Order: sequence, then structure tokens, then C-alpha cells
Amino acid sequence: MKIDSTSKFKADRVKQALSPGLVDLVGMDEEELVSLCEEMGEPPYRGRQLFSWLYAHGVSEFSQMTNIPKGFGAKLGEAARLQTLELDRENKSADGTEKYVWRLRDGARVESVRIPMRNVNGVMRWSLCVSTQVGCAMGCAFCLTAKMGFVRQLSAGEIVGQFLAARSLLAPGERFHNVVFMGMGEPLDNFDATVKAVRILTHPQANGVSARRLTVSTVGVVSRLKDFVSSVPGVGLAVSLHAADDETRENLVPLNRKWNLSALLAECRELPISERRRITFEYVMLRGVNDSRGDAKALSRLLEGLKCKVNLIPWNPFPGVAFERPDDERVEEFRRILLAAGLVATTRTAKGVDILAACGQLADARRLQSRDALKLLNSI
Ligand code: SAH
Repeated sequence: MKIDSTSKFKADRVKQALSPGLVDLVGMDEEELVSLCEEMGEPPYRGRQLFSWLYAHGVSEFSQMTNIPKGFGAKLGEAARLQTLELDRENKSADGTEKYVWRLRDGARVESVRIPMRNVNGVMRWSLCVSTQVGCAMGCAFCLTAKMGFVRQLSAGEIVGQFLAARSLLAPGERFHNVVFMGMGEPLDNFDATVKAVRILTHPQANGVSARRLTVSTVGVVSRLKDFVSSVPGVGLAVSLHAADDETRENLVPLNRKWNLSALLAECRELPISERRRITFEYVMLRGVNDSRGDAKALSRLLEGLKCKVNLIPWNPFPGVAFERPDDERVEEFRRILLAAGLVATTRTAKGVDILAACGQLADARRLQSRDALKLLNSI
């Protein structure tokens, strides 16, 4: 069930293009599928069967749904469609990371990244990083996605669709061990679709991932944090901190002008996070900007007493901005200061840098202003 360019797939697309009124099934939750079936005169269990075909099996054609009566399958085929996106381009990194550029039905493009990760026993597992918006409105100074601006929200179906399409490209027997919402976009700025996509992907019948293996990363939209944590309990939460003082953070993350560090951290301290989980604070490391010993000490003080871990992300470069990545020793020294203060701190190894697939390197070249970045993206 690969998304490919077989003639059948093309025929489906032509049909879809000619019938703009078709309902998207991917993105519907079990309840919605049950009511859709009921409206069409089918028993409720038919909706649950559909749920399993859509998500657990990821079928691309109605005819593959073997326990759905032919007549109903045909009726559904006239009213609804299955694919929300198609593969536009695929890049493979020397380190095994793969970047997928998906073309959405309106021609917009978003990216997902599949990342090989070794666990403590050295066993290789795949992680998938998905996007929640086309572009992003947050304007973080060091992020390439920000440079394309905000284009539009993704629907829950387009978020889940990235998972389904990427899963179909895995080798037989492989699966995604972790899913992170860390691609293009700010998940909490697309709250409803994000929550719905998380619920579908973590549904026990979806063959997706368990809640504890799904992490959503946010720039820190304070007004939505509590609501988010209680809407999808057990899901991992990562908050992009990036600085330990307001002046630095304001320059890096414009949202800090709306909610400063004390507002953000006060909210984090009150979040109803389950006993066994910790918030992850992401901290992109920029040479000479936020990587000094003093910054490490200030960060330790800021997070004192908060059940959390810190994930240091040495900046992944792209042309057109003046930032630099600190060297490894500086990052390690910074980490040691955090450890000495009693914090849990890890460093994220960059993956897929050569194909612009690492954190903050995702963008649709056509929408970038910087000529250098554009040239680079087009060269891979
Ligand atoms: N909007 C979400 C998801 C962003 S991507 C958020 O802000 O958290 C995930 C992480 O990568 C974020 O912490 C983001 O700040 C960071 N990031 C962005 N650009 C980066 C870059 N060029 N190098 C390293 N990390 C970057």
C-alpha cells in the first residue's frame, strides 16, 4: 500500500480532483466513523471496522477492506476518500535519516523525517517526526521553518496521514517506535487538529504508538498548555526554552514578549503531568548567545525543583542567519554544569543535517526569501 505513482493511484487522484466534495476519512476518529456509518444506514460496528482499516492497516483503496460489504464500499468510495497527501520527494542522509516531502491536495508541501535511533542495547529503532502546520507563525530567529512564515494549518488527517504514509514506506516487520511532533509548525497553535491526531495515533486499535512514546514539542503557548496536558494525558511534552533570561529569549523566541520566562515556568510547574513523566525543556545552543557557563548556571536556577529534563540541541545550521553552533566541548561543559546542579540533561545528536532534515531545517524552498537557503535546499 505504498503511496506511489501506479496508474490506479493516479486514477484515484483524478477522481478526487474532480469531486472536491469528497469527505476525508483519514483524520476521523472512531466516533465520527461510527456516526458516518449510521448515517449511511450501516451498523455502528462498521465504523470500528473502518477505523481499523484506515489506521491499523493503512489501506489505500476501499476494495482492500475485506470485511466491508462490496456495496457499502462502493457507496463510500463515491462519497469519501482515503489519501490526504502523496510523496513528492524523498532524501536519504548518509546517517540513515530520511526526509519525506509530502504534497498536500492544495499543492502545499510539508515534511516528515524518519530517524534511526539506537536504544541503550544498541538496537536500531525508527522515530518519526511529523509537521503540524505548513510553515510557522512563531518566528523563532534560529529556525528555518520560521523563514517561510505561516501558510496554513494542517488538518488532523494531514498530520495522521504523514504517519500512515511514512509507515507504508517502512520495510516489512518494521514499525515506528517513537513519534514526535517536532516538524514544521507550532502544535499548540493548531490545537484541535493536534489533539485529534494524537488521540488517533495513540488509540489502542490504530497500531500507532503508545502515549508515552509520543512527544509534542511546543514553543510554550502558555494559554493552551494545561488544556493540552489534560486533553492527552500521558503524552510527552517538550517545551522550547532556549534561554534562561528574558532578554535573550525575547531575541530568539518572539512569543516571550507575550509570556515571559516566569509566566511560562509558573505554568509548567502547575501542569498536571503524570507521576512517571517529566517535562523536557529543549535548549538550542547558539555560540556566544546562550552557551556560557553563566547561562548554564542561570538555567539550573530557573529549573530548580521542577521535575524535568533538559535536552540540549546544538544549533543546526542553514545559510542566511548569523548564528553559529558551539563546539562539542562547550556543549558538554554546559551539560556538566546542569548535571552538577542535579538536573537530568542530554544532548540531542543531530541527524540528517546533510539533507536539511534536522531540527529547525525543514522548509518549503519555494516559500523562502533567502536565496542562499533556497539554493541549498534545491541542491539536495
Ligand atoms: N514549534 C515547536 C516545534 C519546533 S521543532 C517548538 O517550538 O517546540 C523542535 C525543536 O527544534 C524546537 O525546540 C526548536 O526550537 C528547535 N529548533 C528550531 N530550529 C533549530 C535549529 N536550526 N537547530 C536546532 N534546533 C532547532
